[in-house]
Amino acid sequence: MPAAVYIGDGELAVRDIPVPAPGPGDVLVEVSHCGICGTDLHLVLEGYARPGSVLGHEWAGTVAALGEGVEGWSEGSPVVLDPTPGCGRCRACRGGRPSVCLERPPVDFLDFHGAFTRYVLVPAARLLHVPKSLSTRDAALVEPTAIALHSIGLSGVQPDDAVLVTGAGPVGLLTTAVLASRGVGDITVSEPARRRRERALAVGAARAIRPDELPRAPMGRPVERPFSVVFECSGHAAAAEAALDQLDFAGTLVFVGTGRDLPRINHNRMIVMELTVMGAYNYDGSGFGPALELLASGSLPLDLLIEPVDVTLDGVGDAMRRLAAGELPGKVMVRPEVSR
Ligand SMILES: [Zn+2]
Ligand SMILES: [Zn+2]
Repeated sequence: MPAAVYIGDGELAVRDIPVPAPGPGDVLVEVSHCGICGTDLHLVLEGYARPGSVLGHEWAGTVAALGEGVEGWSEGSPVVLDPTPGCGRCRACRGGRPSVCLERPPVDFLDFHGAFTRYVLVPAARLLHVPKSLSTRDAALVEPTAIALHSIGLSGVQPDDAVLVTGAGPVGLLTTAVLASRGVGDITVSEPARRRRERALAVGAARAIRPDELPRAPMGRPVERPFSVVFECSGHAAAAEAALDQLDFAGTLVFVGTGRDLPRINHNRMIVMELTVMGAYNYDGSGFGPALELLASGSLPLDLLIEPVDVTLDGVGDAMRRLAAGELPGKVMVRPEVSR
């Protein structure tokens, strides 16, 4: 089967790889669509990926073949993969934070068998049915939607809060749309690219500004129009530093986007204003069920969150470069075919 394989030096190429055979308890899933994630961009464009690996974890598909002993699934059923739950016993799990369960196997982003190809092999026990009202293309948005739900839940944001989202790429846009669907009305998005600012307004932001329009903070006092919660979705150090400056007393900054440059955090400001800075990683303990429900509810503008034109396996590298350059606002979906 054709796959977009990482070949080193920030490049992908279409190669033929064997179709995996389902073992006992496994299901072979035919990938319908797989979204390109910020993590994929870091791994490929910054050269961290292991040559020979196939990336892509934001997929939805249909059951293609069942391994021995698998019951309750039939060929053609639309499915997504639910994340591994925490152990339920460790300090993190007991505190309601299974996304950082202490008993997890170490995360190995390099040893990866992803879905930028035609078939993936998954344990049947971790499959979820895609609701009838949701296409598999839209269902491929389940993982980033679950991430947005998790960061929003951790932040403690309330509907009457003034919220700032820094960065309006796929993650910032999804965070904005999910906030709006949760009744948050006062959302400002800061983003340098005009097309992304326009898209932010279309998916639920009340205001979209350039990062240079954010004021510098006076010492020990809030800016004129402060925010109670900021979601930093850009992964840029300058955005994180500006984000902290925009918080009101007792405000919360949630780091959602990873990045290479490290921000300088003004601890004096955090002390005097009792600010909270937190990271949000992965998903809630309830897994992908609530995200599937939200996607199927029709309350998210999926046609604006997903780019209208899908790419094929030979176009993944190019789409990654365009995403990194800020040219594409929404999530790019990959169809596991080859165009030429
Ligand atoms: Zn992802
Ligand atoms: Zn645990």
